[in-house]
Amino acid sequence: EADKTYLSNSIREIEDFQKPGIKFKDITTLLGDAKAFHLLMDHLVERYENREIDYIAGIESRGFIFGSALAARLRTRFVPIRKPGKLPYTTISEKYSLEYGVDAVSIHIDAFTGAGKAKPKVLLIDDLIATGGTATAAVNLINKAGAECIEACFVINLTFLQGDLDIKKTTSVYSVLEV
Ligand code: 5GP
Repeated sequence: EADKTYLSNSIREIEDFQKPGIKFKDITTLLGDAKAFHLLMDHLVERYENREIDYIAGIESRGFIFGSALAARLRTRFVPIRKPGKLPYTTISEKYSLEYGVDAVSIHIDAFTGAGKAKPKVLLIDDLIATGGTATAAVNLINKAGAECIEACFVINLTFLQGDLDIKKTTSVYSVLEV
């Protein structure tokens, strides 16, 4: 619990970024605090080290930071889930609605073929879940790409938005910090 308080206090809040009324959780202060970053990574390693995980998929761009660090610690593979138009090879995409308009996430079509398994097991990681739109689309994308999402993991869950309700229908959800 003391560790969670330390971790929570390492995250800076920025008022009105990128829209008025939004209190943005700035995780760069967590990354810039060696104790906080280490506490977080040790906690995630402890949670996942004995699980069968063929891939960690991280959502652009802060999910890349935590996801690749964890993949290296667990000696497993890492797959980037990106905004459309960024990945160089053939991709598949999944659209999701925003408050105004639509967005999408994409992945390389062969992203999960390297493990040599029919249905590789994937842990999805992002820094934060708000409305859940991005993560729900990412889980659908992982399934479309022929893998199984065993859990979606977030450093922070903005629980008042109940963004995990949809995603819980298809996979389990774990959040280190709930605010
Ligand atoms: P959602 O699709 O759940 O509404 O939004 C989650 C996505 O937006 C995540 O990829 C997350 O990185 C980003 N995001 C939204 N709000 C915040 C915030 O306050 N802090 C950070 N670090 N990321 C946010």
